[in-house]
Amino acid sequence: MRVLVVEDERKVADALRDGLEAEQYEVIVEHTGEAGFLRTTTEPFDLVLLDLGLPGRDGLEVLGAIRRSGIKTPVVVLTARDAVSDRVAGLDRGADDYLVKPFAFAELLARIRALCRRGRGPEPFHVSVGPVLLDVVRRRVTRNGEVVDLTTREFELLSHLMRSKGQVVPRESLAREVWKEPARTTSLDNVIDVHIARLRRKLDVDQSSQLIHTIRGVGFMMCVGEP
Ligand code: CA
Repeated sequence: MRVLVVEDERKVADALRDGLEAEQYEVIVEHTGEAGFLRTTTEPFDLVLLDLGLPGRDGLEVLGAIRRSGIKTPVVVLTARDAVSDRVAGLDRGADDYLVKPFAFAELLARIRALCRRGRGPEPFHVSVGPVLLDVVRRRVTRNGEVVDLTTREFELLSHLMRSKGQVVPRESLAREVWKEPARTTSLDNVIDVHIARLRRKLDVDQSSQLIHTIRGVGFMMCVGEP
């Protein structure tokens, strides 16, 4: 899960980053409303934590702008203003939830989990491995920010490998989940190998930065560095 934190108070922002990273979230921090808005319009996130009291463009304005530009990423508003009118305004402008500061970190985590359950399921919408980012909703893959052109099958294959990053994915699992041909009598091994080779050519620009590793006799694993 990629989370954008928009918070001008450095101490609060750092605490959020540390806490969320400890929970395996990928965290990007911006300290102004303008920078936060720019991020949401140029990069995919699964969740935005948005402080309301920001210098310049405040959180409510940013939220309105995010929704007007058609971005549906869940937004949790963080506010020190414990006023009913602020909460209502936040929800009116398209916030999915809000937390009044100071809040317990455990509560924030619980709200995030609840949003995931309520929304599009517990599956993350974006997965990253090293420089490669996969956007499940838009079915788009980028490497260092540049779009990688993939066929439907290549996308499915990569998606399966990336969702299981750091784990060995057996060939049988790829045959079942990506090719979906349970009745097939001949092995798909060669077909899988050809597709893996194509993915490598598109993603692993050089040997030293190899992301798709062959686990001899079993299958494949995606990770940064040696498996
Ligand atoms: Ca603030």
